[in-house]
Amino acid sequence: MLKTALYLLLTGFATSQAIAQSSKSLPAIEQKMVNRGLVDIQKVDPEILVELKYSTTDNFIGRDVYGELTRAYLQPEMAKRLAKANALLRKERPGYHLLVYDAARPNSAQYDLWNALDHLKIPARSKTQYVADPKIGSNHNFGCAIDLTVVDENGKPLDMGTKFDFFGPLAYPRSEQEMLKKGKLTARQIENRQLLRKVMTQVGFKVNTTEWWHFDGMSKAQARAKYGMIP
Ligand SMILES: [Zn+2]
Repeated sequence: MLKTALYLLLTGFATSQAIAQSSKSLPAIEQKMVNRGLVDIQKVDPEILVELKYSTTDNFIGRDVYGELTRAYLQPEMAKRLAKANALLRKERPGYHLLVYDAARPNSAQYDLWNALDHLKIPARSKTQYVADPKIGSNHNFGCAIDLTVVDENGKPLDMGTKFDFFGPLAYPRSEQEMLKKGKLTARQIENRQLLRKVMTQVGFKVNTTEWWHFDGMSKAQARAKYGMIP
């Protein structure tokens, strides 16, 4: 009897410690998104891979802009749709996965990204060619946009013709046929992009005309009305 009581006391203590630990270990920027109802997409579908490029130095700025933000969050309905897209992909190509480069981005992180452009000495008037003006916001600021690619059964990203965040016509879905004719993109690279587009559009995401990796779950006006901006 005493032993049981002691056991319960200890396990109860261990559980409350674990809860305290897990909520304590969530960075403030992620907690802010959890508080607004956004979900960690890997909790919805652990088969989706995540590597937030702005939380590494492997991005066009060459700096870790996100810091403690390392997990991919989305509005719950967006995360559900993404999980469906991943299932469609895995049905078509067993062993393949979606790899998320960027998802929800609080407006504070949009400012960090905007300010980080100064390190590249980009003139103020040209900044919006690279990053949405934080005063207006990007669909990422509402948790309704995703940047992603496809990885094969060996975990290698498919060749999409350019890297993530390559700025120029080579990355434009609308210019693919022209780039193919000019010999700047191969048919295979376009097929790889089409595979990504196929599974994403089947679950209602919209293709971006200038970024093969970017997909919107709804228009910015709809996202603003429905969710509001993540501060
Ligand atoms: Zn994007």
